Amino acid sequence: MTDPSNIKTTLNVSKPSPLHPVGRMRMLLLMLLIAFPVSPSMVWAQEDFRVDTISDALFQHMQGKSFPEECTISRSDLRMVSVLHVDFQGNTRHGVIICNKAIAKDLLDIFRELYRQRYPIAQIRPIDDFDANDERSMQANNTSCFCYRVVNGSNHLSMHARGLAIDLNPLQNPCVKRRKDGTLFIQPRTARPYVNRARTFKYKITHNDLAYRLFAQHGFTWGGDWRSLKDYQHFEKKP
Ligand SMILES: [Zn+2]
Repeated sequence: MTDPSNIKTTLNVSKPSPLHPVGRMRMLLLMLLIAFPVSPSMVWAQEDFRVDTISDALFQHMQGKSFPEECTISRSDLRMVSVLHVDFQGNTRHGVIICNKAIAKDLLDIFRELYRQRYPIAQIRPIDDFDANDERSMQANNTSCFCYRVVNGSNHLSMHARGLAIDLNPLQNPCVKRRKDGTLFIQPRTARPYVNRARTFKYKITHNDLAYRLFAQHGFTWGGDWRSLKDYQHFEKKP
């Protein structure tokens, strides 16, 4: 990968015009970098909108993180879904979703439509980029799917552990549970400003939201409809 800072330095010292072919190439590269900012997950992205099996390099990245030794799901049941999305600044970005093969086609279709309609998503990276730390991934407003883990505060395997659940824009769409003492347990911790769903703010998932409608059309249930707790970022599908 070319270091953008090198390009900048070179451009600053080159004569303005006419640009040498190498200079033109550098300029083109710089323009591409501005249009499609490089993120770590791009390393795994093969192409816009496609489904792949888990490559050796990606599997290595997952081992000991989202795919721990005790993982009961097999690598062959997982897929890497490459997508494009529009971020909160309106830039087009690559995204990578690791999921169960049973929902790979659903996610491909849903995210293709979200992109077509320019639905803003902060970032979509494997949770391994955050060492499979759910809180860190959520605080970074990262959209992610597969992670072998139990439901917080229980022994039950999460639907994320089977790659059958996805969390979308988690910062503005937190998971909120009322403790027995009446206090609120909020994930991520930094999402308190978004707990009151009567308020108007950007990126809020509601029943009118495009993402909700697309996931519902594809047979997913929404954590925002649950009663025991509200998980506004969460969509899952039982195959
Ligand atoms: Zn979730």
